[in-house]
Amino acid sequence: MSTAKVQYVAPPAAPAIHRYGMLLAFVLQSLGVIVAIVLAWQYGGIDLLSFSLMIAGILSTAFGITIGYHRLLTHRSFETYRPLYLMWMVLGALAVQKSPLEWCATHRKHHAVSDEPEYPHSPHYHGEGFWNSLRGFFYAHIGWLITGHIIYTDQSKYVPDLIADPVAVWIHRTWEFFWVPLSLAIPTVIAGAISGTWHGALMGFLWGGIVRTFIVHHITFSTNSLAHLFGKQHFQTNDQSRNNPLCGIMCAGEGWHNNHHAFPTSARHGLLWWQFDLSWIVIRLMERLGLVWNVQLPSEQAMARKRIA
Ligand SMILES: [Zn+2]
Ligand SMILES: [Zn+2]
Repeated sequence: MSTAKVQYVAPPAAPAIHRYGMLLAFVLQSLGVIVAIVLAWQYGGIDLLSFSLMIAGILSTAFGITIGYHRLLTHRSFETYRPLYLMWMVLGALAVQKSPLEWCATHRKHHAVSDEPEYPHSPHYHGEGFWNSLRGFFYAHIGWLITGHIIYTDQSKYVPDLIADPVAVWIHRTWEFFWVPLSLAIPTVIAGAISGTWHGALMGFLWGGIVRTFIVHHITFSTNSLAHLFGKQHFQTNDQSRNNPLCGIMCAGEGWHNNHHAFPTSARHGLLWWQFDLSWIVIRLMERLGLVWNVQLPSEQAMARKRIA
C-alpha cells in the first residue's frame, strides 16, 4: 500500500481542558517515575513489597487490556461467564486507558480504517524524511491522545453492544472520578497496610501505581507506533501492520500485529509456532479449565489464502 500519495487529514481538535489535562497527566506521570527511581537510588533499591505490587499490577492490568478490553470486549474472540467477563473489564479499567466504551470504539475504528488518513493513530501521513517520520512515530505513540480522536469516538456506530451493557456504561460514566483514583489507591493502601508506614504507602503509590501505569501505557502505545512501522508482514492486509518481535514479547502477544490485522477475531495473535503470545497462553488455560468457550481461531485454509510467501 502506498501512503505517499494520500493526503494527511488533520485529527479533530479537542477542547483545551482535554489537551492540557492530558499533557499534565503525562508530565506528572513521567515526573513520578523519576521520583520513584531517585528514591529507590537513595534507599538502596526498590523494596520487595513495592516491586511485587508493581509486577502484579503490570500483569493483571496488561492482561486487562490485551485479554479484556482487546480480545474479549473489542473482538469477541471468545465467550465466558458473566462474572469473568466483568473481571476482565474491571482489570482493563484499572489500566487507566479510558473506559471500555472509548477504548473499544477507538480500536474498532483502528481496524475499520486501518492506516487510512482518518485513522486515529497512524504513524504514516506525516511526510517524508527523518524528522517527519519521527513526528509520525510520536503522534502514533502518544500525540494522538491529545487530539479529539480519543473524545469523539462515535460510540453508537462502533460499540452498540457495549452501550447496551449497564456495567460498561457505569464504568464509562465514573471512569475519571472513580476508576483512575482507585487504580492508584489499591497499591498505595495495600503497601501502607502491610508496611505500616507512610513511606511504604508512598513507595506503593509510586511503584505499584505510577511506574506500573507508565509501563503498561507505553507497552500498549508501542503496538500503535512500533507495530505499524517495524517488522515483517507474514499475511496480506490493507495496512502497514507489522509483526514486531519486541512488541510481541513485551506486549503479551499483541505485537504480532500483522497477524492480528489479517485475522482480527482470532484469540491467538502469535499464529506461527515461534511467536510467543502470553495472552493466548492465558486464554488457552482458561479454555482448558472450562472457563471460556467459542474460542475463535483462523482455519489453516484461511491462513494459507493470506500468507505471504
Ligand atoms: Zn493496528
Ligand atoms: Zn484489534
